[in-house]
Amino acid sequence: MSSPAPARTLSDNLLLGATRLASLTWPAAGRIFPERAEYDDNQSLWVSQTADYRPGAPLRENITADLAIIGGGFAGVSTAYHFSRRYPEKRVVLLEAKSLANGASGRNGGLMLNWLASMPDHSPEMTRRVYDMTSAGIRMIQAIIERHNLPVSHRSDGTLTVYTDARRAEAAHAEAEYHQQLGIPSQYLDSAALKQHLDLQGVSGGLLDPDTGQINGAQLVRSLRPVLIEQGVAIYEGTPVLSIREGATITLATPHGEVRAQAIALATNGYTMKLGYFRDAIFPLHSHIFATTALTPEQQAALGWRRYAGYSDDLDRIAYSSLTNEGHIVFGGGSNAAYDYCFRNRTVFPGAPESTAGMMRQIKDTMAGYLPGSEDISIAYRWTGTLGFTLNRNPLMGVRGAHQNVYYAIGFCGHGVTLANVAGQVLTDLYSRDDAHWRGLPIYQTGYVPIPPEPFRWIGYQMYTRLTGRSPRL
Ligand SMILES: Cc1cc2nc3c(=O)[nH]c(=O)nc-3n(C[C@H](O)[C@H](O)[C@H](O)COP(=O)(O)OP(=O)(O)OC[C@H]3O[C@@H](n4cnc5c(N)ncnc54)[C@H](O)[C@@H]3O)c2cc1C
Repeated sequence: MSSPAPARTLSDNLLLGATRLASLTWPAAGRIFPERAEYDDNQSLWVSQTADYRPGAPLRENITADLAIIGGGFAGVSTAYHFSRRYPEKRVVLLEAKSLANGASGRNGGLMLNWLASMPDHSPEMTRRVYDMTSAGIRMIQAIIERHNLPVSHRSDGTLTVYTDARRAEAAHAEAEYHQQLGIPSQYLDSAALKQHLDLQGVSGGLLDPDTGQINGAQLVRSLRPVLIEQGVAIYEGTPVLSIREGATITLATPHGEVRAQAIALATNGYTMKLGYFRDAIFPLHSHIFATTALTPEQQAALGWRRYAGYSDDLDRIAYSSLTNEGHIVFGGGSNAAYDYCFRNRTVFPGAPESTAGMMRQIKDTMAGYLPGSEDISIAYRWTGTLGFTLNRNPLMGVRGAHQNVYYAIGFCGHGVTLANVAGQVLTDLYSRDDAHWRGLPIYQTGYVPIPPEPFRWIGYQMYTRLTGRSPRL
């Protein structure tokens, strides 16, 4: 699930050079290619399992706050949760454009994973620190569910990275041994061992991470709403922040009211650039994904899926899949067709889900390649979600601004189920100036590889993905 930052190839270096050159056009690009914020309705399996949820009322007055959080996904809700527990006396406001979990947190593949998408190095110290951070994050999510008795479907019987290439499988074997020396419980399964529990075709072996699992993110986020309200957080749904005016007191404009806050937290992931922040750090990548009808345990066994919450593969256009407690197989990725970038950073995929039928067939073919027989299973839900993508695939968490009062936790790529839930602890510690625990981690107060503006952004994405079959990564 973690991979080292790969050595740069000639095409990577060319891309980096072209990116830096194109970045010179930023001042003109914003005027020539204006953008607007868009939010579509979440059509996922996950929200279908929160059918009783009714979004709260929008903001309709002018208010003040000590901390105003923008965005009601994992990052925003976890920030509201941890901050309001540490500072019960402070006024915390959470503003969400649509409804809680309408973004990626309610649209993902459900895999609750360890590690970062990209490790800066594999030294024993860094390996241990990153593992400890994410495994504590998973335990924290589970503890919150237990503490508040939340109705969240989840399982923790392990996930796998599976290897379609014998050499990469051998490297994973060595990685598992290295982890074990460090006291990390990774386990290598050769193809025969893997077959007994999860019979995937074309796979040479798998790296099992036994304490990871799968979770319904929409249930987690939405069932935390009454807990947050109890902790004193004021939540306004249907309240897009339209603009931010920075200062010692920050002013947020929304359609029917203003918030004047001493500090804000950007928890807007793939939508962040619409507020004028991190425009050269993140781009919205659309991932198309589906869930099958619920399979009985007998049907799961007949397909060869007898154990484990999910898997992802070792290919660059990563395929990922999980099996819910209710028996739905969730599957996404696996080819260029499974992902899209839309001109001018559109955060809504046009026409979804109708326009994605052809792509969904390709994604289903990828699933059938791993699980022959699954081609006959009906798709019950198909949806598209917006990932906040950085070029090195790691998130950015920190604080910025002349008054050091603009906190942010964004750019989680395909690894945010655990990490965006950890974000609330990170930002609360940073606010408290009690952040020694996070210093030196490659997600904390770091720089980023710049992404050029339009039209180079769109042209670069299309050319790179078509020519290499990979997603841009530097
Ligand atoms: C299809 C798909 C599959 C994925 N699979 C996995 C997986 O299996 N495992 C994994 O670890 N990760 C996965 N991810 C990534 C993971 O879901 C995200 O990294 C994580 O949910 C990010 O959480 P977030 O709170 O930062 O963002 P989001 O959940 O996107 O929340 C941002 C919120 O901000 C709101 N917002 C934006 N702008 C404004 C504004 N101006 N005013 C008010 N509100 C605003 C949005 O409406 C949204 O609700 C997947 C993502 C997708 C899309």
